[in-house]
Amino acid sequence: MNYDVIVAGAGMAGAVSARIMAEKGRKVLIVEKKKQLAGNCHDYKNEYGITVHTYGPHIFHTNNSAVWNFLNRFTDFEFYQHRVLAYAEGKMIPFPINVKTINSLFETNINVGQVESFLKEQVENSKFNSEIVNFRDAVVSQVGERLYETFFKNYTAKQWGRDPEELSPEIARRIPVRKNGDNRYFSDIYQGIPKSGYSRMFERIVDHENIDILLGADYFEARDHFHDSLTIYTGKLDEYFDFKYGELEYRSLKLEFKSYENSYVQPAATVNYPNDYDWTRITEFKHFLKEDSSHTTLCYEYPASCGDPYYVVMTPENDRKREMYMEDAMKLETGKQTVFVGRLAQYRYYNMDQVIEKAMEKCGNI
Ligand code: UDP
Repeated sequence: MNYDVIVAGAGMAGAVSARIMAEKGRKVLIVEKKKQLAGNCHDYKNEYGITVHTYGPHIFHTNNSAVWNFLNRFTDFEFYQHRVLAYAEGKMIPFPINVKTINSLFETNINVGQVESFLKEQVENSKFNSEIVNFRDAVVSQVGERLYETFFKNYTAKQWGRDPEELSPEIARRIPVRKNGDNRYFSDIYQGIPKSGYSRMFERIVDHENIDILLGADYFEARDHFHDSLTIYTGKLDEYFDFKYGELEYRSLKLEFKSYENSYVQPAATVNYPNDYDWTRITEFKHFLKEDSSHTTLCYEYPASCGDPYYVVMTPENDRKREMYMEDAMKLETGKQTVFVGRLAQYRYYNMDQVIEKAMEKCGNI
């Protein structure tokens, strides 16, 4: 069988790209190393009837209506607005930083009109590089040293296994600082959790007459059979080029799942542990789909340097290598031989919606 397009990987980048190309009338083959679809978005219902995210919690959020409308063709979304508490100084404190965070930590009673001057004073009493060069600078310049040390310093060191001063300030942009009382983790217009789960959503995305799927197959072993096809590659960027500029770093997680005979054990879906314990956060899945069960299931996240790649590591050194790989990748894209899409293939700390945007953009150009 001849295929117009080979898609390496059946995660978000691969599945969405495959669907877009199939709808353009191209014959598509997805080659996926794992024996299942959905990449790190995979989920399943456990013995207690609770939908568990196999590779850690995934909360969908976007401001892009095209992305939202695309996914809504394949799933309904449960209304869900993510809220997170940080366990610090023995208290459960709303996070990201907003007026409630300040009042809880500092035992003050300021109102939203006073947040700006409060933070200004915190920043004025702190030291950081005036040209923001690292993660610490990016946070301290917004909220000062005390809030940085309580919520960010140790979490970041635990998560990335390195000093926050070695990390890119860009990571800090993921976490807003709010002058109001909005304690949601995300403020995007569209937010939710697929009602029947992510895995089911992926099954529907790839369910198209022009798409065939090969599970449990290594793209690098299969690629010699498909010389004339266009490749949409979603795996690790450095691996595609045989690590010729050296290895890029990826950060992994060890996840521990525990179930308890209890309705709920946490007051919020996720509790972050910046300073205590070895895990970074615990997520209680029942909060997402409000499933009725005698039990509740929790996921403890332990950052790890080895294992499946979950995160790209944003340091100047990795950035430098990325630039070299991307130059080669762009040549292949211009020649319409291979297109690189997604977190691993573009070596970018993308959220799910950003991956879909990239797939739409790149496949739209083909
Ligand atoms: N972060 C932190 N304290 C927190 C939450 C996040 O210092 O309580 C930092 C940390 O460096 C983390 C980054 O912000 O890696 C991004 O956090 P996010 O929750 O977006 O991480 P993800 O959900 O992608 O693991």
